[in-house]
Amino acid sequence: MTTQHVDNTTGQIDFVGAGPGDPELLTVAALRAFEAADVVLHDRLISDEVLILAGASAKLVDVGKAGFGPSWDQGDINDLLVAHGQNGNRVVRLKSGDPTVFGRLDEEIEAVEAAGLSWSIVPGITAASAAVAGIGQSLTRRGRNSSIRFLTGHDMKGFADHDWAALARRGEVAAIYMGKKSARFIQGRLIMHGAVRNTPITLVENASRPDQRVLATTLDRLPADLAQADMNGPALTLYGLAPREAVQALTEFNKEHA
Ligand code: SAH
Repeated sequence: MTTQHVDNTTGQIDFVGAGPGDPELLTVAALRAFEAADVVLHDRLISDEVLILAGASAKLVDVGKAGFGPSWDQGDINDLLVAHGQNGNRVVRLKSGDPTVFGRLDEEIEAVEAAGLSWSIVPGITAASAAVAGIGQSLTRRGRNSSIRFLTGHDMKGFADHDWAALARRGEVAAIYMGKKSARFIQGRLIMHGAVRNTPITLVENASRPDQRVLATTLDRLPADLAQADMNGPALTLYGLAPREAVQALTEFNKEHA
């Protein structure tokens, strides 16, 4: 565990990264925290293959969605974390991928700190890492891109704004989270700022899971191809990257023989 903030109350909250779905991609630290947990509060995106690894006596609570009802409110999640901690429990707050990437981690840490509870962060493998591995590519490459951006397609105000001019430059690479609904918006902004229309874009749905799907497209064709692909699972959009040929051939082979 990287950070340890100890206070004088008995409960402990571990903010744990569950990785992208394949249980093999959990860290050893995540697994240990998981096995020691009294309570696990998890997001909707966490796969069953991961949840099954929780200690037999651990209470699992899905705070991504309450039954068939509406989504949990962030304030309610904070309250629940604090309540379980104050009852002296070892609480694992399990978040998909890495808890520090688009995970509203700070809001929860602030609530836990305000209650005087101790907490730690256990990092995880973020979706971008799993997605790029799935297409046999590298997020950075000498002579192509010396930086990589992690973007969100939308934020609290709607579609998220970014430095489009910088992104539109040749060779740029970005990992776009929550990028499906905003695909047309992103396409429009990038083209407006001079991005080349045949810039490669690859979407990886359900990265690292048995039902992983790869959609290789271009900036120009993104909205149309995405609509046709009908992706319902979580998908990571890799801007500026095409699948390496051998991997692409394999994906197509798998599709044909499915
Ligand atoms: N903390 C997470 C991201 C949470 S935001 C992480 O580090 O991965 C949720 C978004 O992450 C989804 O909309 C999707 O864009 C992406 N995502 C999460 N799991 C994924 C997976 N297995 N495959 C592809 N994208 C995934």
